[in-house]
Amino acid sequence: MADVVVLGAGVAGHTAALHLSRLLPKGHTVTVVSPNSRWNWIPSNIWVGVGKMGKQDVVFPLEPVYRKKGIRFVQAKAVAIRPEGDAEGARGAVDVVHTSPARDGEEERLRYDYLINATGPQLKFGMTEGLGPDAGHTVSVCTADHAVHAAAELQAAIERMKAGEHQTLVVGMGHGTCTCEGAAFEYVFNVDHELREAGVRDRARVVYLSNEAALGDFGVDGMTFAERGFETTSELWTASLFRERGVEAILGAHVHRIEPGVIHYETLDGEMHELAFDFGMLLPPFGGVPLKAYDRDGEDITDRMFAPSGFMKVDADYTAKPYEEWRGDDWPRTYLAPGYDNVFAVGIAFAPPHQISRPRKSPNGTVIAPSPPRTGMPSGVMGKTAAMTIVDRIKHGSERPAHEASMARMGAACVASAGAGMRRGSAAAMTMMPVVPDYSRYPTGRDTADTRGELGLAGHWVKLMLHHLFLHKAKGRFGWHLIPE
Ligand SMILES: Cc1cc2nc3c(=O)[nH]c(=O)nc-3n(C[C@H](O)[C@H](O)[C@H](O)COP(=O)(O)OP(=O)(O)OC[C@H]3O[C@@H](n4cnc5c(N)ncnc54)[C@H](O)[C@@H]3O)c2cc1C
Repeated sequence: MADVVVLGAGVAGHTAALHLSRLLPKGHTVTVVSPNSRWNWIPSNIWVGVGKMGKQDVVFPLEPVYRKKGIRFVQAKAVAIRPEGDAEGARGAVDVVHTSPARDGEEERLRYDYLINATGPQLKFGMTEGLGPDAGHTVSVCTADHAVHAAAELQAAIERMKAGEHQTLVVGMGHGTCTCEGAAFEYVFNVDHELREAGVRDRARVVYLSNEAALGDFGVDGMTFAERGFETTSELWTASLFRERGVEAILGAHVHRIEPGVIHYETLDGEMHELAFDFGMLLPPFGGVPLKAYDRDGEDITDRMFAPSGFMKVDADYTAKPYEEWRGDDWPRTYLAPGYDNVFAVGIAFAPPHQISRPRKSPNGTVIAPSPPRTGMPSGVMGKTAAMTIVDRIKHGSERPAHEASMARMGAACVASAGAGMRRGSAAAMTMMPVVPDYSRYPTGRDTADTRGELGLAGHWVKLMLHHLFLHKAKGRFGWHLIPE
């Protein structure tokens, strides 16, 4: 009988755990380790962050779902991986520190036959002085609690405008190496909508501040859309959306420091600037969750298993090479850690081989280049792929080939939808296929039949539908596995 341990109960880990419990025969165990007792549908934090939804609409407790599915839930954070075991035996092990009120701080070593690392991002607000809601002067929508705080701060800015004041609202990226530009784009779209609904848009200067060298880059080097036989770019598409809404864009920016009311940033031309602001939602850079790794003798092998960014190395080609030589084939397919055919890293936890967007530096040597996004759909697909490999190997033997899912073969979607309700919303929806461009297969790097930018109410319905469908799926309710990742 085999023991499978999944670290992280987000999009990738939770998806993997649900599929493992569905497909594994009785007798095998599935254990999920996660520090938070609740699941969060992170994409809808955007709506929480403008007050259109409450925290209770985007989170639910994990334990009842896991109890129903026969999954063991350990509320704890993983701190170390021992892929070769320890002095007690050769089975792999994970060191965890409990975080539930009943066992807070207790340490435990869990044994596994298969391990999935799906610990997602570490939110590195500390990389920019003054960034973030805890020790800084800006808000965030990365967690449901952050989003609740962001909504309150936005409302306070709206009240000041109603009282006659003018306000500058800045939305974007808090560091030159941030990823997740799509989330900032969605949020600025929503903020603009809220200001209009509140009747104060004329008193607001709305600024999108990003590390992207051009609008519409989104950390994926931009997209080419085919529209009624004509080709257009995501740059033109995004620029026209911003122009229509009166959103100013500051591009190619690395934020150095934030003081109360002032953002200090450098642009790709090397110039230093200051931007006065009243409300700022700036995303932090992401790193890997800090995990150590040890070999059987207790020697530290963290540098072997993890990239300097803290993300876990998998079956990617990590050879350093110039942008012109980057290929879709550099990207991982199986998510297996090199040297260990029972350890996987999926979702944001795996180390990308390189950026997707063209790397850039200012003349001062400051890196200003979006990191590669690993969005929800690919994260879910990777979680399922690792789960399928494990199920196959447990059922039919460890020699079975691994299932594959490369980001150079799979698509992603970003729907910036503003407003709530069925009739009054509107959306800017983008789909791309594949995420990592492949110029050997497509002249524009992507399949123009599935790479699109659409505007209108239909996209808003899709976003609302996805919110309800994904919560239904994550709760493991009737037919959940028929809903695609
Ligand atoms: C505001 C926002 C909006 C977004 N909107 C979209 C969107 O519209 N569409 C889209 O496709 N994507 C969107 N994304 C991206 C999407 O949320 C991520 O791609 C997805 O959550 C990544 O899944 P993951 O499982 O890798 O990480 P997560 O979902 O972050 O899960 C990580 C899990 O690991 C747990 N964990 C952390 N540390 C440890 C530890 N030490 N030990 C064990 N567990 C640990 C966490 O508690 C969590 O349960 C958005 C992201 C943000 C921030």
